[in-house]
Amino acid sequence: MKVVFTSSEIYPFAKTGGLADIAGALPRKIASQGVKVFGFMPLYKTVDINKHGIIKIDASVDVSLNSRVYTFEVYKKIDDATFFFLKNDELFGRDYLYGPPEGDYPDNDIRFGAFSYAVMEFIKRENLNPDLIHVNDWQTALMPVLNYYKYHNHHVRTVITIHNLAYQGIFDKFAIERLSLGWDIFHMEALEYYDKVNFLKGGIVFSSAVTTVSPTYAKEITHPEYGYGLDGVLRKYSNKLYGILNGIDYDVWNPETDKHIYENYCVFTIQKKSINKRLFLKEVGLKDELKPLYIFIGRFAHQKGVDLIRDSIEEMSKMPANFAILGFGDKEYNDFFKSIEGKYENIFVKVDYNEALSRKMYAAADFLLMPSLFEPCGLNQMIAMRYGTLVIARETGGLKDTVEDISQPDGYGLLFKNPTKEEFLNALYRAVELYNNKKLFENLQKKVMEMDFSIDSTARKYIKLYESLKYSREVKI
Ligand code: ADP
Repeated sequence: MKVVFTSSEIYPFAKTGGLADIAGALPRKIASQGVKVFGFMPLYKTVDINKHGIIKIDASVDVSLNSRVYTFEVYKKIDDATFFFLKNDELFGRDYLYGPPEGDYPDNDIRFGAFSYAVMEFIKRENLNPDLIHVNDWQTALMPVLNYYKYHNHHVRTVITIHNLAYQGIFDKFAIERLSLGWDIFHMEALEYYDKVNFLKGGIVFSSAVTTVSPTYAKEITHPEYGYGLDGVLRKYSNKLYGILNGIDYDVWNPETDKHIYENYCVFTIQKKSINKRLFLKEVGLKDELKPLYIFIGRFAHQKGVDLIRDSIEEMSKMPANFAILGFGDKEYNDFFKSIEGKYENIFVKVDYNEALSRKMYAAADFLLMPSLFEPCGLNQMIAMRYGTLVIARETGGLKDTVEDISQPDGYGLLFKNPTKEEFLNALYRAVELYNNKKLFENLQKKVMEMDFSIDSTARKYIKLYESLKYSREVKI
C-alpha cells in the first residue's frame, strides 16, 4: 500500500505543538510496518535543512491560483519514511508557521491552499500513485477537496485527522476565487460555513474517513459544547468518524536515553529521578527538594486552562510545593506570566518555547498539571508518565482516556471534573497528600512508567483503517 501523508508541521523539522509529534512519529511507524509512505510539509524559513540532512532535488512545481503563479522548489529527506518539503519563500519564508502571537497571517488560505495544490501536482507529475492520502487539520484539509473536485481521483481514498476542532481555517468567501475553486462547491453541504469558506469542513465532507485523536473526543465533538459549530456536520458523517488514540514515540521520549536531562534513569533506577529534581531546582533557583514539584508545559491558550493557573497563582504561592511553568502563546498570557517571573519564591516561570528545558522538567517533576478546558488527546500527560511523573488533569477528551483517578481501584493520577478554581486547587491539595504517602507515590511512579502509550499501537490502528477503506464506497457529494 502507498500512502501520502501531509501535515503543516512534522517533528523534528518544525513544531508548534502535538500535531508535529504525531505527524513525525506516525508516518515513520506506519512505514516501518510495511506501508510505503511519502510525507509532505512546507519548507519554512525556520527549518534547519543542514542539521536534518534535507537536500534539494531537481524538481519544482508551479501552482497557478487566480492568475498568479507560485513556484515551489522540492527538497527531500529519507529516513524511515520519505519526506518531501515544498519551498516557496514568499509564502513560507517567514518567522512563524501560522503567524505571530498577535494573530494569524491574513493570507493563510493562499499559503496552505497553494501548498495543498502543490502536493497534488507533485503526486500527479511524479506518478506516486498513492492508494490513500492522509491529511491533518485545516492546513491540509483542502487536499481531499482537490482530490475529488479538481483531480477526480475518486479511487484514491482520503483520511483527515482532526487534532483540534477549535482551529478550522475559516476565511471570507472570496477565498473560493483566490484558490481557483468554483462557486458550485460554495454551499452548505460542502465548503460554505455561515457565508465563509471553512477548510476543515471541506476536509470532513470530502474525505473517505475522518479520524480524531481519542475515543472520548470523537464523541465530544458531535455535541454542541465541543463541536465548535461543526457538531452538526460531524453528526451527519458520524458513520465515517473514528477516535484513534494518539501515542508518543518511545524512542524520542525516553528517560533512559534522553540527552537533555541531568541523569538518565528507567523504572529500575527510578531513585535517580530525584537527582534530576535536585539539579533542576538548583538551576532555576527553587528551594527545598522535599516539597513536591508541579510543572506546567504547554501553549498559553485558553484551551489549556491557563486561566485556572493565573487565577490560582496566589494560593499556589502559599502551598508547600514548588511550581515550574513553561509556555508560550497568546499575548495576554505571555504578558501575565512575564509579569510574575521571579515574583514568588516557589514559582519558576519561563515564557518561551524550549524543548530541552521541557525535557528537564518532565524528568524532574513529581506532578504535571493539565487543567485543559478541552483536550483532543494531549501528549504531555503521556510524556510525563513515561518520565515517571504523575498527572493532574481535567477529566476531558484524551485526558479521560489516558488518566485514571487514584480513587478508582487501578487509578494512577488525579482528575477533576469542572474547570473551577476550587476543583483545580482541590486536586493540587490531594496531590500533596498523595506525595506524602511515599510508598504509594513511588509505586504509582513505577506503574505509569510501565504503561504503554506508544505510537506503535496507533500506527497499527491506522493501517487497519487504511485497509478497510479499500473496500469502502467512493466519496459522493
Ligand atoms: P497541543 O494542543 O499544543 O498540540 P499536546 O499536548 O498535544 O498539545 O502537545 C504538546 C507538545 O508540545 C508536547 O510535546 C509538549 O512537550 C510540547 N510543548 C508545548 N509547549 C511547549 C513549550 N513552551 N516548550 C517546549 N515544549 C512545548
